[in-house]
Amino acid sequence: MAKKNPLIRPLVHALHAYVPGEQPKIKGLIKLNTNENPYPPSPKVLRAVKAAVDGRLRLYPNPTAEKLRAKLAKLHGSKPENIIVGNGSDEVLALATRAFVEPNAVIQYFTPSYSLYPVLADIHGAKKNAVKLNADFSLPSVAELKRGKKWNFHAALTFVTTPNAPSGRGYKTGELEKLCRAQKGVVVLDEAYVDFANENGLKLALKFPHVLVARTFSKAYSLCFQRVGYFIGHAEIIAALDKIRDSYNVNGLGQIAAEATLDDLKFYRANFKKIITTRDSLSRELTKLGFRVLPSQTNFILAKPPLFPAKEWLQKLRDQKILVRWFSAPEVSDYLRITIGTPAEAAALVRAVREIVR
Ligand SMILES: *Cc1c(COP(=O)(O)O)cnc(C)c1O
Repeated sequence: MAKKNPLIRPLVHALHAYVPGEQPKIKGLIKLNTNENPYPPSPKVLRAVKAAVDGRLRLYPNPTAEKLRAKLAKLHGSKPENIIVGNGSDEVLALATRAFVEPNAVIQYFTPSYSLYPVLADIHGAKKNAVKLNADFSLPSVAELKRGKKWNFHAALTFVTTPNAPSGRGYKTGELEKLCRAQKGVVVLDEAYVDFANENGLKLALKFPHVLVARTFSKAYSLCFQRVGYFIGHAEIIAALDKIRDSYNVNGLGQIAAEATLDDLKFYRANFKKIITTRDSLSRELTKLGFRVLPSQTNFILAKPPLFPAKEWLQKLRDQKILVRWFSAPEVSDYLRITIGTPAEAAALVRAVREIVR
C-alpha cells in the first residue's frame, strides 16, 4: 500500500469514492449501463442552449437559478422558496448531509439503493445505518422496521430511493407517508426515476416540514450532461441548504436548458410513454429467453439471467458490444441492470441474448 500522505485527512485517505458507470469510447457500442435517456433533448432545448453560447459566457449565471425556480414552483404548485437547485441532484444530496448531519450522527438508507449515500456519509464522517429492503425489494412497513430493531427512527438524515434503484421497484405514496411520519430527522425521497412511475411523493414534501423530494433533469429529461437537479421542501430547510451552497452552483447553460425543458414538457411525456412501452416489451422478450425480470417503474430493469452467472453475462454482452451494469453487492449480484434504450437497441439486446443462450 502507498505510504500515507500526512497532508491528506485520514478520513479522505480511507475513503472508497463513488464509482460512476463507465462512459466508454468504443465505436458502435450500445450503452445501457447508466440509465441515460436514449432520446435527445427537445429541439427547443438544443436551440435555447445554442443561442446562449456567445459573449455572455464571460458573465456569472444567476446565483439562485431564479427563473428556473419560479418555473419549477409553478409546475409543482409550490413557491420558489420551496425549491433549491443544484449541480445535479447529487449536489443537493451532498448539501443535505452538510446541513442536517452533525459529524458522528446517523445517515440512514435501505440496501440496495443508490450507492452514493454511503459515500456521502463517509465523506462527512457520519455513521451509516444501512437496512435491508425486503427480499423482493419492497419497503418494510413501519411495524416491521420497529420489530427489526436495526432501523433508526431518530436518524439525522434518511435517504429513500423511490422508485428504488437498482431494483426498479415502485413504492406507494401511502407507505412512504407512514415512514415519513415515523421519522424524527430529515427524510429525502430521491425521485430520480419518478417520471416513469405510477406515483410520487411530492405532496409529502409540501406537507411535512422534515421531508425533501429530490428530482433531476438527468434521466427523464435527457440532460445528464448539463447537471441540474433540485429539492422541493419546506421553506425553512430549503433556506438552510441555500446558506451553505456555493454561490454559483448551477451553471448558466444548465439553467437555460432546464428552463427550456419545462417549456416543452409535452415532448418529454411522449418520450416517457415510448420508454415505458419498450420497457414492457423488452421485459416480456427477456422473460421468454429465461430471464427473471423484476417489475419496473423506472427507465431500467433488474433481471436475473439464466445459464451463467450475471458477471459472466456482463462480459458476454460486452463482447457483442452491449454494455449493461452489474453490481457486486450480494443482494443484487445475481442480476443485471439494463437501461431501457430505443426499440432498436432493445432488439439488438434480444438478438445478442439469443446468440448467447444458444
Ligand atoms: C442518477 C441518480 C441521481 C443523480 O442524478 P444527477 O441529477 O445526475 O446528479 C440521484 N439519485 C439516483 C437514485 C440516481 O439514480
